[in-house]
Amino acid sequence: MRHAEQVTFGGGGLDRRADLRSDAAALDALAASETARHLPLWRGKPLMQGEEEAPVLAPQPAGAEVLAHSALRVFLGEAPDGTAWFARDISGWEPNEILEAPDSFLDRSEQIYPGLEGARFVELRATMARITPLDAEIAATARAITGWHGTHGFCAKCGAASEVACGGWERRCPSCGAHHFPRTDPVVIMLITHGNSVLMGRSPGWPEGMYSLLAGFMEPGETIEAAVRREVAEEAGVRVGPVHYLSSQPWPFPASLMIGCHGEALGTEITLDRNELEDACWVSREDMLETFAGRNPAMKPARRGAIAQFLLANWLADTLD
Ligand SMILES: [Zn+2]
Repeated sequence: MRHAEQVTFGGGGLDRRADLRSDAAALDALAASETARHLPLWRGKPLMQGEEEAPVLAPQPAGAEVLAHSALRVFLGEAPDGTAWFARDISGWEPNEILEAPDSFLDRSEQIYPGLEGARFVELRATMARITPLDAEIAATARAITGWHGTHGFCAKCGAASEVACGGWERRCPSCGAHHFPRTDPVVIMLITHGNSVLMGRSPGWPEGMYSLLAGFMEPGETIEAAVRREVAEEAGVRVGPVHYLSSQPWPFPASLMIGCHGEALGTEITLDRNELEDACWVSREDMLETFAGRNPAMKPARRGAIAQFLLANWLADTLD
């Protein structure tokens, strides 16, 4: 697919500079340099600033007071302008007042750090469609890698506490010597078409009117094509023939890689698995255009920034090739 890397979180142009990761002294010097950019993340939320419609990341210079809370530094790489970026996890910081909305589908609360005027810790899903590709790639990488460290503090082999290594891209076990690397969990998400229609579904608990493409985690020992056919058969009872890869999207919530595919259905009869889906239906191209325009009372437009919206938009524009 020619437009594959125009998806949100794709094509940002970050040079990860893996060659520097094993040189701890060089990384220390780079982190202390005047031009280094340290992006604080608090409980998965990157620090952002700027206008509501076009927010930008708010990296801090080395030595900034907020970084004193950082228990973890990960070297993210170099931006095209040559500046070095680091992720700094400050999740241990306890604000006087926690501004959270625990029950909402999408956490839109913003946490403010005293003294950082205009900046706030923001849920990436709430801003992902409005930030630049470079900021999106940096934020996605920072969120995924700090999240991995936060949940993988112990050796999976022997259970001992492991240690950060390789600029933050590895954990090593001092007890048994095992090396552990960041996880990425593949998920297939599929544009299933039959003639002029696309298969849409909704999970129980989603906001009213929200539908998306069917998706599911791949299983060990499975090809991408087999996972697409299995998920669609399990969830909607629809058999799928040819499957083609279209585009992928890093989805750091917490550590997925969405693998977007096109599959051709062999029939249209739907048999729902009610545990997985509350509803599934075929939507014609004309009705999907109305949905995208916000004129379909039964279905909300797909969420901007998500690969489902990207694939549907390219299907409507006839640019899947
Ligand atoms: Zn171990």
